[in-house]
Amino acid sequence: MTKNNTNNKVKPYLIFISIIAMMGGLMFGFELAIISGAVPFIQEYFNWNELELGWGVSSLLLGAIVGSLLSGFFADKYGRKKILIYMALLFAISCIGAAQSHTTLSFILYRIIGGVSVGAASVLSPMYVAEVVPSRIRGTMVSIYQLSITFGILTSYLINYLLHDVENNWRWMFASGAVPSVLFFIGLFFIPETPRWLLMHGYKERAQKVLLKINNQEEANKEIEEIELSDKAGIENDGIGKLFSKKLRKPLLIGLFLAVFVQITGINTVIDYAPKILLAAGFQIKSALLQTLLIGIINFLSTFIAIWLVDKVGRKPLYMVGSVSMFISLLLLSLSFWFNLSGIFALISILLFIASFAALIGPIFWTLVSELFPNRIRGKAIAVVSFTQWVATFLIVLLFPYVLKNLGGALTFFILSTMSLIQLVVVWRWLPETKGKTLEEIEGLWEKK
Ligand code: BGC
Repeated sequence: MTKNNTNNKVKPYLIFISIIAMMGGLMFGFELAIISGAVPFIQEYFNWNELELGWGVSSLLLGAIVGSLLSGFFADKYGRKKILIYMALLFAISCIGAAQSHTTLSFILYRIIGGVSVGAASVLSPMYVAEVVPSRIRGTMVSIYQLSITFGILTSYLINYLLHDVENNWRWMFASGAVPSVLFFIGLFFIPETPRWLLMHGYKERAQKVLLKINNQEEANKEIEEIELSDKAGIENDGIGKLFSKKLRKPLLIGLFLAVFVQITGINTVIDYAPKILLAAGFQIKSALLQTLLIGIINFLSTFIAIWLVDKVGRKPLYMVGSVSMFISLLLLSLSFWFNLSGIFALISILLFIASFAALIGPIFWTLVSELFPNRIRGKAIAVVSFTQWVATFLIVLLFPYVLKNLGGALTFFILSTMSLIQLVVVWRWLPETKGKTLEEIEGLWEKK
């Protein structure tokens, strides 16, 4: 890393456009978690049985699968900014639509629409940020994106808690999402298209202008050179087939592995079912809801640790330590069920689990997703990895209550802890360190091996 401090200053403009792009994360977290508090009320309103409720909750994730798959392709074709604008619009429509729904069909439809934009945001927001920030702060900036997800989750838990006693509260819960959606929509008109997209579509002058606004002259020239080099020397044809070529087999396999394991180690069992787990561990409903808010706070605050460490310590050691501490906390949770220990023991295990994920895994996962693949294929690669992550999320959220009921807490959490152990071994063995490398240098990493 160079020691040129004056040159290394981050321009306020770059911070501004990154914050706007990262509001996609806020919406993502918000939509994901708002339903947890609405569940008891919508179930009663729509008169749903347990299966219908499961479908009502996971329909968002089905939309997210579609959104994550399609958005990368569209963003490669039409630009990151344009598609983000459409997504912000969809967010707003889905919030208002779900809030005023009077039939199950309409509610589910709006949740699927919301899901499409959640899935798209999960691809486009980190992609945008990774493509505008210089490599030395890329990890930090993408971790701030995760912070925006956790802020969205925390906001929704807080809104749920505050609206607990209000009439028609579930409608207000969903409707409240329209405020940040509209702000996001307006903000997007003030950000530029990413220089990488512009260069790769032949708009060199526009790309140069943007690069000079966000970087110093030296960094801007270096970026242009590197993007053009990787464009020429790299994969000339960026069709989806290339993603499955031998050359990209390794980053693809690692990306897919991380995507499945980031979910099957159980994060969304806690995000979506925390009150349910706490009830099973012996708490009363009221304190279970309050503790869910505490989980949201720990989730949010722990993310600062990742922001602080990711570009200092590197991705790989953090992911490994994170896997170990998730393993330990899930084992403790399993033991608390096995030995029927008091609820507080389960709560501490869950808080340790959430803190491990938020500080060491979640942000690093999204950073890695945005930097593992070469320029010409990045859009499609991120889409495929995010898609896989959403399929895993959908399945785990769908199956968790059934598994918990049939296998019990001890075995369920023991299985999840084993997954963390497998994750540890694979990351230790196969994940290369990407800290401080330009996206183009990372591309070179795969070729060397
Ligand atoms: C994951 C989400 C999860 C959230 C928790 C994100 O990185 O993608 O599935 O709910 O972290 O904070």
